[in-house]
Amino acid sequence: MSEGPVFGRVALIGLGLIGASIAHAARRGGAAATLVGWDRAEAVRDRATSLGFLDAVPATAAEAARGADLVILCTPVGAMGEAAAAVAPALAPGAVVSDVGSVKAAVVRTVAAALPDGAAFVPAHPIAGTEHSGPDAGFAELFDGRWCIVTPPPAAPRRAVARVAEFWERLGAKVDEMSPEHHDLVLAVTSHAPHLIAYTMVGVADDMRHVTESEVIKYSAAGFRDFTRIAASDPTMWRDVFLTNREATLEILGRFTEELFALQRAIRTGDGELLFDYFTRTRAIRRGIVEAGQDTPDPDFGRIHRGRAR
Ligand code: NAP
Repeated sequence: MSEGPVFGRVALIGLGLIGASIAHAARRGGAAATLVGWDRAEAVRDRATSLGFLDAVPATAAEAARGADLVILCTPVGAMGEAAAAVAPALAPGAVVSDVGSVKAAVVRTVAAALPDGAAFVPAHPIAGTEHSGPDAGFAELFDGRWCIVTPPPAAPRRAVARVAEFWERLGAKVDEMSPEHHDLVLAVTSHAPHLIAYTMVGVADDMRHVTESEVIKYSAAGFRDFTRIAASDPTMWRDVFLTNREATLEILGRFTEELFALQRAIRTGDGELLFDYFTRTRAIRRGIVEAGQDTPDPDFGRIHRGRAR
């Protein structure tokens, strides 16, 4: 027996990697009866039209949102307020609004302020991504087996929360719920601080090019290659993440710096026992991630696969 769509008309605002992937996955899972989308860039709208993953690409955000049962904001975090303001006047009574921002507390504040009173707003963050951007980067399998965290405000109607959760499950994701603040702290540890560290390490290697010349590229080992993949992530998206999840990221970076100094001291003083014990503890964390099905045990760390947690 086939299940009907979770929402009738779904409007995606922002047609990059995530917006396009939602469209592909919704199409595959029959999660929406009609899929429409809008992006501020005309070239992106044209490209989305020719890729054919939407039923329609109207000329304005308001036209896309008009009559939609679900509107999902898929822009960079810093543009969420503007995107919410653009769709707000066109929202039908009972329409559900959601987003996919990688930061939640700041986005919840900005978007809620731009929406009409009483609008059903159910923020969400799919923990899935790649280092690629734009509509061509989207693919249906991106969310398969990945978590999508919903962070509904206390006033959000439970029926709307349940439907957004069902929508993400239909896209292949597993759904969890937490507060925006807790989400931001968790993601600062698992995603935001690691990205900053990767950006920094690749920056250091770049600064040393005059010493090492092409050796950085020629002999790049798995560790550095993984850093470069992460550090190739979209500059706009990551600038916005750090500017909007400032407190949690700074808290984690403070702790990181303390640990780094402890390991630096152990290396200086030849404290092999400390290093060994530390690396044994961290190895167990890797094992836990693989056992939880969040990565593959392959020696290439799954690099050949398209979907990566973000
Ligand atoms: P992306 O590929 O760069 O796509 C974002 C699109 O939104 C771009 O085409 C951008 O156009 C457009 N845009 C910017 N401002 C807009 C506005 N005011 N109205 C309409 N469209 C606008 O980015 P993405 O990777 O899909 O990320 C989108 C969101 O998903 C971000 O909030 C990010 O935090 C979140 N997220 C990303 C990942 C990931 O790994 N990439 C994972 C989970 C969640 P311009 O190029 O002209 O700016």
